[in-house]
Amino acid sequence: MDAADVVAKSKHCIVFTGAGVSAESGVPTFRGAGGLWERYRPEELATPEAFAKDPELVWRWYRWRQEVVHRAAPNPAHYAIAELEALGVVKAVITQNVDGLHQRAGSRNVVELHGSLWRARCVKCGAVYRLEKPVEEVPPRCPRCGGLLRPDVVWFGEPLPQEAWARAVEHAAEADVVLVAGTSGVVYPAAYIPHIAKKHGAVVVEVNVEESAITPIADFFLRGRAGEVLPRLAEEVKKRLSTRRESSPRGPSAIGSSQP
Ligand code: NAD
Ligand code: ZN
Repeated sequence: MDAADVVAKSKHCIVFTGAGVSAESGVPTFRGAGGLWERYRPEELATPEAFAKDPELVWRWYRWRQEVVHRAAPNPAHYAIAELEALGVVKAVITQNVDGLHQRAGSRNVVELHGSLWRARCVKCGAVYRLEKPVEEVPPRCPRCGGLLRPDVVWFGEPLPQEAWARAVEHAAEADVVLVAGTSGVVYPAAYIPHIAKKHGAVVVEVNVEESAITPIADFFLRGRAGEVLPRLAEEVKKRLSTRRESSPRGPSAIGSSQP
């Protein structure tokens, strides 16, 4: 059996993604960060301490990131993942990304472990606001109470949103396949997700341009760019599904019933 077979035959395949999946959309990973903000390390900006000290600087960085993502579009990796969900194969996309590109590509069941660039939260009254486009003034203020707004993302040293974490762990425990793509697997607790799935018996399929901290537990390592490997994998999975459908004695309904 190859990776496409494993995915095609799965009952509960989940996808776990990181910044590498958005790299081909032109959204830099933290390691490959370029341009304007090169001289800052994310650990210096994505922290509660940095925000307390200089909210304007932190917001200017987030506004730049919002602008990059706003101009960007989902790439073939995002679309392949969305297609696997539409086929009924992928049950959930658990992402560390904050860019919203999975949703823009059509993924429906997305668990955002690290929040979203497209929400801001009032540090004073807790109100959460959806953002349609990059913020204009920095730092933005709460229309309700005048308090300071912060990006509704998870900063270094902060706990993950409870509800998202609980959903992710549930999916990981139920998964029989976890497709890991474009993550270094070093940011915890998020990186526990593939390990939890593996412990519960899931097959781990990894897509990355290089080996990562997940590679030692990977059953299949597909080396290459996510935007090239994932569409090929999705194509293969589609072929296997239609072969099974043709060879199944009960016809198409047999597939339907095995994937409620
Ligand atoms: P990371 O930067 O630590 O690792 C990126 C991984 O992607 C690396 O293993 C790299 O080899 C791989 N990669 C790079 N280009 C690739 C490609 N084209 N195809 C396949 N793999 C590729 O990212 P991480 O593991 O997500 O963790 C860093 C943290 O940074 C996360 O918490 C995340 O919230 C945050 N982050 C998010 C975004 C985003 O939302 N797009 C961007 C930068 C950072
Ligand atoms: Zn407020």
